[in-house]
Amino acid sequence: MDNYIVSARKYRPSTFRSVVGQKSLTTTLKNAIQSNKLAHAYLFCGPRGVGKTSCARIFAKTINCLNPTADGEACNACESCRAFNEQRSYNIHELDAASNNSVDDIRTLIDQVRIPPPIGKYKVFIIDEVHMLTTAAFNAFLKTLEEPPHHALFILATTEKHKVLPTILSRCQIYDFSRISIADMVEHLQYVSLQEGVTAEPEALNVIAQKADGGMRDALSIFDQVVSFTNGNITYQAVINNLNVLDYEYYFRLTDAILSGNVRASLLTLNEILGKGFDGQNIITGLAGHFRDLLVCRDESTLALFEVGASIRERYKEMAKHCPDQLLFKAIELANTCDLNYRASRNKRLLLELTLIQLCQLTQMAADDKKKTQIEPISAGANPAPQTVSNGQLQQPPRAPQAAAAQVMSTRMPSSALTPPPSPAPNPARKTARPMGISMKEIGVEKPKQQTVQQTITTEREVVTPFDNDTLVREWDSYAATIDKKVYLKNTMINCKPTLQENYYFEVAVHNPGQQEELINNAIHILPFLRQRLNNSRIQMRVRIVEENEKQLAYTSTEKLALLMKINPTLGRLRDEFNLTLD
Ligand SMILES: [Zn+2]
Repeated sequence: MDNYIVSARKYRPSTFRSVVGQKSLTTTLKNAIQSNKLAHAYLFCGPRGVGKTSCARIFAKTINCLNPTADGEACNACESCRAFNEQRSYNIHELDAASNNSVDDIRTLIDQVRIPPPIGKYKVFIIDEVHMLTTAAFNAFLKTLEEPPHHALFILATTEKHKVLPTILSRCQIYDFSRISIADMVEHLQYVSLQEGVTAEPEALNVIAQKADGGMRDALSIFDQVVSFTNGNITYQAVINNLNVLDYEYYFRLTDAILSGNVRASLLTLNEILGKGFDGQNIITGLAGHFRDLLVCRDESTLALFEVGASIRERYKEMAKHCPDQLLFKAIELANTCDLNYRASRNKRLLLELTLIQLCQLTQMAADDKKKTQIEPISAGANPAPQTVSNGQLQQPPRAPQAAAAQVMSTRMPSSALTPPPSPAPNPARKTARPMGISMKEIGVEKPKQQTVQQTITTEREVVTPFDNDTLVREWDSYAATIDKKVYLKNTMINCKPTLQENYYFEVAVHNPGQQEELINNAIHILPFLRQRLNNSRIQMRVRIVEENEKQLAYTSTEKLALLMKINPTLGRLRDEFNLTLD
């Protein structure tokens, strides 16, 4: 251990060829050097640990090499290369702008720029984290960057390109470094293990690569940590224990439970995972990733997106066969919604459990829908007549929790996925409206039919008490009055009132997508409230954005009067009777 060098340093690439995962970029750089078309300034951007600084150093070394190889690499043997490799070259200057970002630091650098290199052709200045320079420092640097002496070459590196001043950007050739793919990283880790005499299961290296999230430096430092932990025998089990990564096995078990609709098994598995000390949010994002992996496994064309190791690939493919696309779409969406709501949730465990319950019901819904499709094949393009709506209600045993769960799901539907409510033929005047029905018809596998919707929504004991628009608005307002923290929702409810339509549907016309989303997201609370207060379980909501020409904004006095008279016709009589005029 006395001469221990961390792998990230020991295996730092010394030629363009040994840079991991940036093939096209290094080829371009090599070509530029070979054809002698060098710019005065380069900007290397990309996430941390993907090889920006390494490439800058290799670049500096290569353009100074006295005896470059035929394929444009540095020889690593000449005096210049040796000086570079032993870190004693005068031709390279590195400035870390994160800690040296003042005008004085830049002035010192500019002084260096003037002096020609003692050996080799170019003096290379690498400025790391260049976005951290102060504005004054930037400005001091600009002149030099614009007209540098012919022997000077700048390589600026940054993780945040958008923070670099446009005046700098326009003077640089820009190279975007990409994250390193899992496969490339695993390959490099395998090479390092071989060199180090370490045995490693491919699956274990895969976990390390995933954990490193695209950065080779991180991957190598995790690798070092695991090597010392496992005494040079890296197994999958040891890695997941050491890195606190959730075993694939749990995701497979959860997926099994979801596919068989076994809520209890899913909750028990969750309990087991939580018992191991895993964070809920990691569980749900991991599960979403797992569904995504299953999805890409379902087709040869997307299989390339699957970054899990080859050894477990067959297992994914096998499981993917049992997961219909639609189910996976919904599952990913549900998991994602849970992830989004996780932080705000007060009862995080319940949120996780609710999501699992919803996930377990997806299969059941898909099956129901399939059954329905078999009974009544959908005739293409035909709208089901309204009477079939009520007919379809009694074919299923009541599943109350599912109805509740379904509403939660539909609250997150993108507007394009939503369909008009199962009401009689829509009013032609409203053709342009975007109906945002809080219905659950999109849960099923095939294009769902109207009656399926109604059936699921009305499974709970149905109460249908008639009410009028005023009562509806009153209850709407009383819900708004109870809102304490969600100010935006409150204002939306105060400003946009519901209008009762046929079949206990009501419509809310809002002014922008934000309000629309707010109402839809909160429908899960608003609707049960209204249903209970108005004693009517059929109440449904549609939210649409008001079309521009529909907005009756009154600007002039005449317009205001016209609008007021429309609302209250007696005003017109008043005006006529007293012969009033506007001025
Ligand atoms: Zn050389």
